[in-house]
Amino acid sequence: MRKPLKTKMKIVGRTLISIVLLGILLSVISCAVNPVTGQQELMLLSEPDEIRLGRKTDVQIAQTYGIYDDPDLMAYIEGLGQRIARGSHRPHLSFEFKILDSPVVNAFAVPGGYIYVSRGILSYLNSEAELAGVIGHEIGHVAARHSAQQYSRAQLAQLGLGLGIVLSEDFRQYAGLAQFGVGMMFLRFSRDNERQADDLGVEYATKAGFDASQMAAFFSTLERLHPSSDQSGLPGWFSTHPNPPDRIRAVQRKSREWTRRLGARELQVNRNAYLRRIEGLVFGEDPRQGYVADQVFYHPGLRFQFPVPSDWKLNNTPAQVQMVSRRKDAAILFSVGKASSPGAAAREFVARADASVIRFDAIRVNDLPAQQVISDISSQQGTTRVMSWFISKDERVFVFHGFTSQAMFERYGSAFRATMGGFATLTDPKRINVRPDRIRIRATGSAGILKEVLRSLGVPDNKLKEMALLNGRDVGDWIAAHSLLKVVEKGREGQS
Ligand SMILES: [Zn+2]
Repeated sequence: MRKPLKTKMKIVGRTLISIVLLGILLSVISCAVNPVTGQQELMLLSEPDEIRLGRKTDVQIAQTYGIYDDPDLMAYIEGLGQRIARGSHRPHLSFEFKILDSPVVNAFAVPGGYIYVSRGILSYLNSEAELAGVIGHEIGHVAARHSAQQYSRAQLAQLGLGLGIVLSEDFRQYAGLAQFGVGMMFLRFSRDNERQADDLGVEYATKAGFDASQMAAFFSTLERLHPSSDQSGLPGWFSTHPNPPDRIRAVQRKSREWTRRLGARELQVNRNAYLRRIEGLVFGEDPRQGYVADQVFYHPGLRFQFPVPSDWKLNNTPAQVQMVSRRKDAAILFSVGKASSPGAAAREFVARADASVIRFDAIRVNDLPAQQVISDISSQQGTTRVMSWFISKDERVFVFHGFTSQAMFERYGSAFRATMGGFATLTDPKRINVRPDRIRIRATGSAGILKEVLRSLGVPDNKLKEMALLNGRDVGDWIAAHSLLKVVEKGREGQS
């Protein structure tokens, strides 16, 4: 008698468990329907998580690469981006569009709907339709949740400076090295992801009224440009977007398809309108944010200078300047601290990095009050010796950390001291009043071969090819009368 009852209970129990499991499973699956394909996929990141992560990453990206300061251009990109995003598969997301102050030719998206275009990519685009294609492509990555998938993968790895030096987590965090994790955002998507983003970009740009086939023109520019990376460490669109020859044809085919499907007429290219928008855009590195000349790093904005060890690689980002020895066995990080005095900054460093202090001296650097700390910082993998100088100037504390292994400290100590001890106030007006190169939009007169037209606009012979590329043309192309063309106005150092 009991047995059947027991069995019955067992069956009821089993069914209950199955129903509960099925419920959990269903709720998981319903969260993981891809917005673009409508297919189920394994996605560990919920949409609110994705938005939260995006917001966090956005702050890091702004700190690492800097936002380009031009409210009009910013509003233009934002307006165009929103218009394209409305036609996407995730129109309910609050997309944000930003211009990064980097000369690298790149655009990318992070989870949650944050889209970035560099001023570098803006200088090489030649119409609103090309820009719409690029923005549409990045919205495509977000819509299809490629970047959310990417983020899950990125979290599995940690990117450092690539140094063979052991750094404790405390020091990493203290020195701002944790932010290098954002570098993981630039890992390549799969070729299928890229193809899908191209297709979506064409779809969204066409829906917004643009001639998406223009995107192919930009692919040709990219192919001729082959940008890889600049000193800010931001990789170019070419390196994150492999460019197989069929990509151009695929975009043209998709564009015809969507034009037909939407019955779209009079699709916009808006070449001249776009060019007028980028009049005055900073081109290439902006020396006002720091530059190296004759082995010296100059910062006109903050008015300081220091020598760079010869043969070392220097990487200037908005958050810090990194210098790495040729053998990558020593590095100097330079940044601006927030503390009230060199002594306070030094004590805060010792506490936060959990450093074992070897020396702690008040010193002067070219008449500026400073604090030197030499310390060992240990992690599970070993010990790093760090020479830190905290220098007070203009109510700011400038911070150097030179680090290497204990064994190599004797060898690199003099290089650390030479750089840190060479820190001084920048007074040379020639170095202070530098101006960046800028893009200028010029109207041509009579028709002619591009090479000749550029010459007539004052472009020197050794710059003809570069200027043709900037305009998305060949030096031998025929240019109609009264066209608009980009030229680069050279920046200058001020008079000394
Ligand atoms: Zn892409």
